[in-house]
Amino acid sequence: MRPLIAGNWKMNTLRSEATALVAGLMEQRAERDPGCDMLVCPPFVTLRPVAEVIEGSPIALGAQDCHAEGSGAHTGDISAAMLADAGCKCVIVGHSERRADHRESDSLVVSKAIVAHENDLTAVICVGETLAQRESEETLSIVETQVSQSVPDGATAENTVVAYEPVWAIGTGLTPTIDQISEVHDYMRALLVARFPDRAEFRLLYGGSMNPGNAREILAVDNVNGGLVGGASLKVEDFWAICTSV
Ligand code: PEP
Repeated sequence: MRPLIAGNWKMNTLRSEATALVAGLMEQRAERDPGCDMLVCPPFVTLRPVAEVIEGSPIALGAQDCHAEGSGAHTGDISAAMLADAGCKCVIVGHSERRADHRESDSLVVSKAIVAHENDLTAVICVGETLAQRESEETLSIVETQVSQSVPDGATAENTVVAYEPVWAIGTGLTPTIDQISEVHDYMRALLVARFPDRAEFRLLYGGSMNPGNAREILAVDNVNGGLVGGASLKVEDFWAICTSV
């Protein structure tokens, strides 16, 4: 399974910064194949400028969210069809920042994944426990609930990627131990094999303070099939170093 390294730019980059960032990545990618698929997820308003720069290159474009409905009276929201029309191949759904900031529930996240699939977008579905949940040994049950309720029945290895992102590791510089990452990823794989016995080759990404210094060790863990990278995806050298760590 070819790993996927995805950059979640969050609410960062103005147009000139976004196009410079992706142009820098393209220069590296033109020199060699890092051995992974590369995905960048800029803010909505920079999707088109970035799409124009990466057109024809192996770097794929994704968005950070979509609305759960196809179209209609939802002021300020963006539909999956609009994302596909803008050149996206993927969309992140259920990121913990959206679950927290916008009170997104598993039932909303699964609806977003379904509408993504209907528009031929791969859904990158995020799950992960808070620090309090980790400390009270609820990690596996939280991950089980989120995976079973956020991943739709129509999920396949082509249209769905699951990202394990412990909330307490995002943007904090803290990461779980390798054993903790391994335990959760093995558990997610087992859940998906049990539910989708004929199509369980989903890529499982780890996300949370991944950087050039820890990527190699994390990406070598069984059932870690790539990374979802926030802060370190905003620098060409760091994101490229992570890509070449697979
Ligand atoms: C993220 O928000 O998806 C993420 C992994 O962020 P960071 O790498 O900055 O922890």
